[in-house]
Amino acid sequence: MRKQTSFLIVGAGAAGCAAAKCFAAARLAPEVVLLEQHSEPGGSAGYFSRGGPRRTFDAGATQLIECQSGQLQELLYSMCPAKDQKASWELFEPIPQISQHWNEQNCAVILRSDGRVIWSSQRSATEEEEKDLRRLEKFLAMSGKEADWMWQLLKEIPRFPPQSWADIKRALELFGKVPWIKKISFPVLFFLNAEKMLRLYGIRPNSLAYDVVAGLLVDTTQSSPQKSPWLAAAMGISIIRRGLFRCRKGMRGYFRPLLSSFEQNGGVYTPHSQVIRLETHPDGFLVTSRDSRSGELAEHLVRSAALLNLTIWDIASGLIPPEDPLNKNKVFKTWSARAAQNKGWGAFALYALVEDKPEWDDVPQYLQLFPSSTDPQALQTPLYVSIPARSDQANPSGFRVLTATLHVAAEDVSEQERSTWKQVLMARISAALNARLESVETATPATFARYTARKNGQVGGIPLALKNFMFFAPPSQLTHPTNKKCKLLLIGDTVFPGQGVVACSVSGIAAFERATNLTFQSIQGKTFGLANGQ
Ligand SMILES: Cc1cc2nc3c(=O)[nH]c(=O)nc-3n(C[C@H](O)[C@H](O)[C@H](O)COP(=O)(O)OP(=O)(O)OC[C@H]3O[C@@H](n4cnc5c(N)ncnc54)[C@H](O)[C@@H]3O)c2cc1C
Repeated sequence: MRKQTSFLIVGAGAAGCAAAKCFAAARLAPEVVLLEQHSEPGGSAGYFSRGGPRRTFDAGATQLIECQSGQLQELLYSMCPAKDQKASWELFEPIPQISQHWNEQNCAVILRSDGRVIWSSQRSATEEEEKDLRRLEKFLAMSGKEADWMWQLLKEIPRFPPQSWADIKRALELFGKVPWIKKISFPVLFFLNAEKMLRLYGIRPNSLAYDVVAGLLVDTTQSSPQKSPWLAAAMGISIIRRGLFRCRKGMRGYFRPLLSSFEQNGGVYTPHSQVIRLETHPDGFLVTSRDSRSGELAEHLVRSAALLNLTIWDIASGLIPPEDPLNKNKVFKTWSARAAQNKGWGAFALYALVEDKPEWDDVPQYLQLFPSSTDPQALQTPLYVSIPARSDQANPSGFRVLTATLHVAAEDVSEQERSTWKQVLMARISAALNARLESVETATPATFARYTARKNGQVGGIPLALKNFMFFAPPSQLTHPTNKKCKLLLIGDTVFPGQGVVACSVSGIAAFERATNLTFQSIQGKTFGLANGQ
């Protein structure tokens, strides 16, 4: 069966859902089909539910940024709301602090969103540790200020790498908005990495302060202080100061309203539909999908633009037939080859019930737990733990749900490794929280591969480095070989700005802008369709 559509979005992850929401706000949803291979939306930022009483776990991402009134996520969420959608300020909740734990050194450092860094331990800090933390406080304050202008620019939805005169004009306009002092320092900052800035502040490797910054960077830029370009690193580090948020109902509460709004405005959302082939057609692109329950195939002829929320390596590894002229695209060829060599990271996750503690009050808990020297090599990386507020979900009384994730190599994990890692991480969590874990289950890269349909369970984008940042980023647009009216737009965390829910949303919005020639600014703030009660 062949259907025609003006726009097709593949993948209901952060980027695909952001794009779908923009189409809804622009009253274009009836011309859009959104295909998702999984039963639930969200992808790497998704969720799943278990048991009775029902417990909902976030599968990967748990922390959001830019949710303050008037900031990017809030704008995206609140324009053209779904009928049953509550006001956004009721949905998003600031995370007041993140605690960083070193069980081996018997200490914890609390990073507060007001910029204070607080020592927490039965023992007092040594003089050197105390100095290190004051340096960290200064460094966080500086990076917060430094990143402010970058965050301003991100809200203008930049399109990198520029692929048309309009994109170049846009990039120049954005540069024009940068404070004059930054215009001068930009070329220097562009080539600096985070490690050099840390050294300027006296923060050296193997110190608590360095560990904290490196841990934040792994989570935000997927990269180390040596590799993270300073401009991106400052944004990653600044998330604590700028405000870190969570969704009161977890990521389910984030994605469902975005999709409801799309569907209520006439968009077609089809879960269980895996795209298995993408080829060029004289009238546009021909996309073939398979229903995972019935096995039925469907063909979609896309006339205006196809937005692909897939990593370059997945597209390169088989979605486009080898003989298709698209494979001859020079930029695509270069990036396919690079992507094939890229060793992306995988996630190892642990989901559990944790014994509730009266002193936690009714506030969510966020922790980063550093490894001990005796942990296996593969686990020599921080573990991110998030626990929602008590009143947030229907948990069995006396317990809260817990999601813990860390970066591992994206490859098979043997049964023996899985069981050792589970024990090591449970011990790490129990010691830091001084609380019991129950009903613990784990997810390996193979689980994520099934969940997100990404090759080898690779999640996250290409780790950030100067050679793939901004002007040198992977392509986000491929031209149709003969039909210039039809576009193929790549979205998600492999393309600029990538990395994290807000950045992927920007990539989705940028693709919407490229597909329609409308701007985000022009569609936000107005009420459309159901929001107007029409
Ligand atoms: C463990 C972990 C923790 C993280 N923590 C945070 C955090 O706290 N804060 C934050 O901002 N970011 C975090 N991130 C990063 C963030 O989750 C991702 O950057 C973002 O969700 C990626 O979105 P995406 O749209 O690019 O891709 P994805 O989320 O992978 O979405 C792609 C979608 O496409 C679907 N799909 C794939 N192939 C096909 C196909 N052939 N046909 C149809 N559909 C298909 C998938 O099922 C999926 O739904 C975390 C990531 C992980 C893995």
